[in-house]
Amino acid sequence: MKPDFNKTNGLIPAIIQNATTLQVLMLGYMNEEAFTKTQLEKRVTFYSRSRNKLWTKGETSGNYLNVVSISLDCDNDTILIQAKPVGATCHTGSTTCFGEPNSKGFLYQLEEIISERIESDSDTSYTNTLFKRGINKVAQKVGEEAVELVIEAKDNNEELFKNEAADLLYHFLILLKAKYLNFNDIEKVLKERSS
Ligand code: AMP
Ligand code: ZN
Ligand code: ZN
Ligand code: ZN
Repeated sequence: MKPDFNKTNGLIPAIIQNATTLQVLMLGYMNEEAFTKTQLEKRVTFYSRSRNKLWTKGETSGNYLNVVSISLDCDNDTILIQAKPVGATCHTGSTTCFGEPNSKGFLYQLEEIISERIESDSDTSYTNTLFKRGINKVAQKVGEEAVELVIEAKDNNEELFKNEAADLLYHFLILLKAKYLNFNDIEKVLKERSS
């Protein structure tokens, strides 16, 4: 797998995508040296066209882009990199150079936060404490939150309804985790149904 650097005067665009949320984070250019460095260090390095030198994203801010996978387009003149970003990708402080992620992106982020709480086995985390009580307890919580949502559906307090909907979605993600599944698995089922 090698980009065709000769085709485009040595510089190829690289699209950087969040490996979890699938959001496009930014676009930069790579020459062969930048590409090789990115592959070796598993951290995104571009070729800065304004500064005419290699630029490892995060070299001063610490907001690196850790490589998860690298692929090329159909004719080897565009690079797609899935990465796990450290902090904000844009120098303006935004998560992406194209603004803040949509709500679907946030669900994936929440899923990741849930995983982090469980992996770090934090005593002060409600998520971790609930998870450790076992799958039956988590499933029971989902049931309770569903009932609370049903009750609020009959009422007409929009704030309370939205809060119960959020509770249900959050506990639903923990239940998926307890079943060794993630939101993407469920999304696939829904997509298959609609096609
Ligand atoms: P960094 O690579 O994050 O340490 O940032 C170094 C410098 O590169 C910043 O001061 C900005 O001028 C520029 N920069 C950082 N991130 C971006 C970005 N996503 N898009 C364009 N320029 C950036
Ligand atoms: Zn192409
Ligand atoms: Zn930016
Ligand atoms: Zn609730």
